[in-house]
Amino acid sequence: MLSVDFGNSKKLNLLLLGAHCDDIEIGCGGTLLRLVEENKIEHVKWVVFASTAERKKEAIDCAEFFLRGVESKEIVVLNFEDTILNESKSEIKNVLVSIKNNFSPDLIFTHHRHDLHQDHKLLSELTWNIFRNHLVLEYEIPKYDGDLGHPNFFITLEERYVTKKIKALLNYYVSQKQKHWFDNETFVSLLRVRGLEIASPTRYAEAFHVKKVSF
Ligand SMILES: [Zn+2]
Repeated sequence: MLSVDFGNSKKLNLLLLGAHCDDIEIGCGGTLLRLVEENKIEHVKWVVFASTAERKKEAIDCAEFFLRGVESKEIVVLNFEDTILNESKSEIKNVLVSIKNNFSPDLIFTHHRHDLHQDHKLLSELTWNIFRNHLVLEYEIPKYDGDLGHPNFFITLEERYVTKKIKALLNYYVSQKQKHWFDNETFVSLLRVRGLEIASPTRYAEAFHVKKVSF
């Protein structure tokens, strides 16, 4: 179904897709913390496609932190190679088909179709190829390429979720700390600007692109 009711008492089955180890947390980590605290999650399948041994451990620990309190969850970190996911396109497609054959999510979080990172773009494209009757929210990842667009779906975040999200990113992803953009200011400023764009009563928001939704 292309619809979801966040206010409904029915809990959500979520599928989270990320090309790289920290993508899911950066893109929708605050939303996840909020959904967990509001007890809105039935089951989560968290799938990361590219990793190394070091990054895999960070990703699993961080995912466990974000999903603390969720009883039913699967965290899968695969070993495809960063920056060249395109070379494994058919294998990745098979992974997604296999997920779809065994799980029907109410809501999918994936990369934005106009993301300029080649791995992000590929995963977004394959998500839409495979999941053809599902509500998909495309999250955003700030980067050097300057591809942030004009999102049209926002989830407000209390400041405590913002703080918790960023603290976890910085604490768990030690291997990323040398990257010039991987810091508190990058993450908090984007969330504040997105909050500004919807006059968020909480001042902060995570933003998404939704291509189609039905009611
Ligand atoms: Zn990424």
